[in-house]
Amino acid sequence: MIRFEQVSKVYPDGTTAVDGLSLEVAEGELVTLVGPSGCGKTTTMMMVNRLIEPTAGRILVDGEDISTVDPVRLRRRIGYVIQQVGLFPHRTVLDNTATVPALIGWKRAKARARAAELLDLVGLDPSVYGSRYPAQLSGGQRQRVGVARALAADPPVLLMDEPFGAVDPVVRERLQNEFLALQAQVRKTVLLVTHDIEEAVRMGDRIAVYGQGRVEQFDTPAAVLGTPASAYVARFVGADRGLKRLAVTTIEPDDLEQPPLARLDEPAADAAVRLRSGRARWAVVLDPEGELHGWVATDTLAEAGRGEGAGTTVGDLARRMEAWVPLGASLKKAFSEMLQHDAGWVAVVDGSRFLGVLTPAKLHEALRRSVDADERGIGRDEVEFHSVADA
Ligand code: ADP
Ligand code: MG
Repeated sequence: MIRFEQVSKVYPDGTTAVDGLSLEVAEGELVTLVGPSGCGKTTTMMMVNRLIEPTAGRILVDGEDISTVDPVRLRRRIGYVIQQVGLFPHRTVLDNTATVPALIGWKRAKARARAAELLDLVGLDPSVYGSRYPAQLSGGQRQRVGVARALAADPPVLLMDEPFGAVDPVVRERLQNEFLALQAQVRKTVLLVTHDIEEAVRMGDRIAVYGQGRVEQFDTPAAVLGTPASAYVARFVGADRGLKRLAVTTIEPDDLEQPPLARLDEPAADAAVRLRSGRARWAVVLDPEGELHGWVATDTLAEAGRGEGAGTTVGDLARRMEAWVPLGASLKKAFSEMLQHDAGWVAVVDGSRFLGVLTPAKLHEALRRSVDADERGIGRDEVEFHSVADA
């Protein structure tokens, strides 16, 4: 959808801002371009909507060499969000949002209706905020208007240059999540520039790590974090890349351990005998439908099952399961649940169906497998894993 072919930009003073860039962003994909300040990110972005002309190479948008396209016509197909937002201070939020549709000749009523729809989409009630001026908004709200305005003419391509840079970290994370939810609906082809590796990893389907005007690595966030292509990339993503990678690696069914199980309606004494013979100290308790109910300690079952407690069932003694995550959640989420509930394992469910548990050892194994799989270009389930226990 956006294709750079050997693109370079040398400014008149001799500065090489972009140096032989080749990169392709697929339709509906969100690619983040990440690198330190001054490495050529903004220059790259502005060449796509012809605010800057390359000195070599060519750029294609939707298969068309953009140097042959009238810049004004080109920009109608490309939404542009910049850090400073660039709202017109003397126009209302609604009119700001309707800028591009109005420019390209939509009827006023239609442009304003579209603007209201977009404000709603980015979480700003048009009846409350539409008539305000930019100065009457918070930084986060202004950023939202910037996104709404860029989407107003429904362009297939969106360029975002440090779009969430001007707000505090808490608001930034909220805007990032909102934008990801929005992107899941609108599926634009997005090139997002940032100097923040966390943002790049969180937002990108793929990320391009920039050195001086060149792409050092272009891959999925998990692959870049797991196997940096060079010492430069390893330094840039940070020494804690293993931790960062936890956030972008999801739990798969193969990662799970199958713990001993007990049924809700089973007599406690029976369950105690069964679990003891298997040397299990605890069991996951399921209801008759196979849904997760909780967990129970073998010792508790044994004590309660004696004497007067003979009628006691597993259900009477089961504790609520607090540490659980859905299948497809990140390993980081699982780990954080373990820590939060001070649990040695976390249950994994699909809807309400219990699938298994993730233990710290299994978590490490899952991470290790996914790194190996990326390195060798194979599926995670094809990686053989040897633990200390096997040795
Ligand atoms: P980034 O967005 O990654 O911070 P830029 O694309 O803005 O980087 O800049 C890349 C390099 O090009 C920097 O060294 C910057 O100083 C230089 N540069 C940017 N604009 C100009 C210009 N108009 N004239 C000369 N040099 C420029
Ligand atoms: Mg920049």
